[in-house]
Amino acid sequence: MNKALNLILACLGMFSTVLIADDPLVIYTQRHYEADEKLFQQFTEETGIELQILKAGASELLERLKAEGDQSKADIFITVDAARLGEAKAQGIFEPVESDYLTSRIPAPYRDPDGHWFAFSMRARIIAYAPERVKETDLSTYEDLADPKWRGRILVRSSENLYNQSLLASIIGATGETEAMKWAQGVRKNMARPPQGSDRDQIRAVAKGLGDIAIVNSYYVGLLLNSSEKSDREAGQAIKLFFPNQEGRGTHMNISGGGILKVSDQKENAMKFLEFMLSDCVQDGFPTTTYEYPVAKTAEWSELQKSWGTFKSDSLNLSDLFEHAKNAVQVFNQAGWE
Ligand code: FE
Repeated sequence: MNKALNLILACLGMFSTVLIADDPLVIYTQRHYEADEKLFQQFTEETGIELQILKAGASELLERLKAEGDQSKADIFITVDAARLGEAKAQGIFEPVESDYLTSRIPAPYRDPDGHWFAFSMRARIIAYAPERVKETDLSTYEDLADPKWRGRILVRSSENLYNQSLLASIIGATGETEAMKWAQGVRKNMARPPQGSDRDQIRAVAKGLGDIAIVNSYYVGLLLNSSEKSDREAGQAIKLFFPNQEGRGTHMNISGGGILKVSDQKENAMKFLEFMLSDCVQDGFPTTTYEYPVAKTAEWSELQKSWGTFKSDSLNLSDLFEHAKNAVQVFNQAGWE
């Protein structure tokens, strides 16, 4: 028996009581990774449940769900940001659910305590640095990035980006709003250029020498290293990763995850989908397809992730992030971080 067939059989066990519905299961998702298409196909092959996928930004999807109200055909909402999952919960759009399987697969900080949303994968917001211009011993914490020694050297994207808003939310949670404001002001002064582009663009810019360090999500390094573009592979090779705050609260982690919508008329099949996302087949795949960290402890990291080393994660319960994130945009604006 070949390995692929084995994996499929390993997944199938969970899906003995699938209800085949006439309508497809409709997923509103902010995830924007090619590997997801294969996951969706695999789900349909194994369960017979057709999926209809709508991809857009988190704010756009939340607005759309609000506008559609009771008429929405959506069954599941997925984002790549814990604060947005908190916002969705506050909007009251999720159906709280209980699942021993999900609870056993997902450590407590990465699922809503009331069962509104569940993480599928994790990402660390790390520092990518140019080893020929930055000594590892010069790096320590996010807070240190506000130090004048980094003047003109930091690359980071705009404050509109959810990854940055959640990082700031975690700093507000850890140090309070006044300190977080000083931090944002300090980092803004230290930027190598006005914020622009994606996380990948920040790494490309470090490789070009436009700055010395970049604040980015860990998996983008994996995506660059495995890109079909030679220049992107070279950019990935030009940098090293540093996991901040190891002596203190740990590195800020964000998640990709989702929940079942109240408006869904296929809640059992929607639950099958969530359980599928936490199954061994999917969890074992994240480290080598999107280079995200798996949420399930049973899943093994990829060789690349192992080469980055183990690290301490911020233990802040991500269900608390939304409260702190409410003020993050305001803090960024006042600090002049475009
Ligand atoms: Fe991303």
